Amino acid sequence: MSWENNVRRVTPYIPGEQPKVNGIIKLNTNENPYPPSPKVQEVLKNFDYSKLTLYPDPNCTKLVEAIVDYHSLRPGQVFVGVGSDDVISTAFMAFFNNTDDEHPILFPDVTYSFYKVWADVHNVKYKEIPLNEDFLMYDNCDEYFKSNRGIIFPNPNAPTGRPVVLKCIEEIVSNNPNSVVIIDEAYIDFVTNYSPDNFGTCLDMINNYDNLLVVRTFSKSRSMAGMRIGYAVGSEKLIKYLNDVKFSINSYTMSNLALECGVASIEDDNYFNEQIKRICKTRSNTVARLQDLGFSIPRSWANFVFAKCPKTENCLEGSEGIYIFNALKKRKIYVRHWNEPKIKDYLRITIGTDEQMNALISALEEILK
Ligand code: PMP
Repeated sequence: MSWENNVRRVTPYIPGEQPKVNGIIKLNTNENPYPPSPKVQEVLKNFDYSKLTLYPDPNCTKLVEAIVDYHSLRPGQVFVGVGSDDVISTAFMAFFNNTDDEHPILFPDVTYSFYKVWADVHNVKYKEIPLNEDFLMYDNCDEYFKSNRGIIFPNPNAPTGRPVVLKCIEEIVSNNPNSVVIIDEAYIDFVTNYSPDNFGTCLDMINNYDNLLVVRTFSKSRSMAGMRIGYAVGSEKLIKYLNDVKFSINSYTMSNLALECGVASIEDDNYFNEQIKRICKTRSNTVARLQDLGFSIPRSWANFVFAKCPKTENCLEGSEGIYIFNALKKRKIYVRHWNEPKIKDYLRITIGTDEQMNALISALEEILK
């Protein structure tokens, strides 16, 4: 007998590489290529470092208030955490209990791979619901009406960039009054030109359904992946349960600095909207150029595209994904590839600056010639 028999063994999530090499083009973790708002920079410049002697506000009041104002909510409807990973992990602990094989939590078979890891680490049973061949769940929304103890999916989905229609989300939430439904809106700000009854945020639904939790992050559209800020919006009841779990683990989750920077970012809406427009424009140009090179791309609504690689004589049929991934890496361009049957022919490519995308296209031209 050894202490190792009693270890909680988990297969951890594998984050995208954060290479230490200079001069790379990093299109592998959906970071924003532009800096955060200049107002955030001001906070950093003027930050009184003696404040670090004090514990931060455990209730994160100023940041919560800023988010409440921004979305016109009621106080008590917002929970903040150390990135949305922290928020979602806390939600798994709070809401996804008492699962068994007949009552698993449900999520799509192609989705954010962290969901499986949180399920395992928190001892939650799960069932994956297959997406259709266009990576959509239109036809199989009713799979989510089957017996379950919770539901989670991103909208738009990752790594596919595909959206879920609002009608489908509402049906899932209303048909599951006994489960908490978490919609992970990490990439929602990049959904542009939608009509409200089609694609887009389901924030407006939270006042009608006390079992709906919407999760957002400052890591993508707000260029602050390194600061670690995420939040959840939902009924006062849901938020109270989240806080109960948080205050049972670590009351001081967010640093003084992160709280102040978060508020500064929220207050600069002009800058925020400009950066989003820029990224969406680069996204359309990139899609057209990748298509010219033979990639097929299901329409993406996020700050990345999920591109199916063209056949090339330079590698064996069926290994184009990994071949192009490695060839790009050799040229110091990092994208993301998963060696899983359903998606092995695809690369997930983050939308960077126009210059970065030019370099990507030139490299691909060379690789595919
Ligand atoms: N949800 C999805 C769908 C994501 O892709 C990510 C980023 N990897 C996250 C949540 C977590 O983001 P963060 O913890 O940086 O807020």
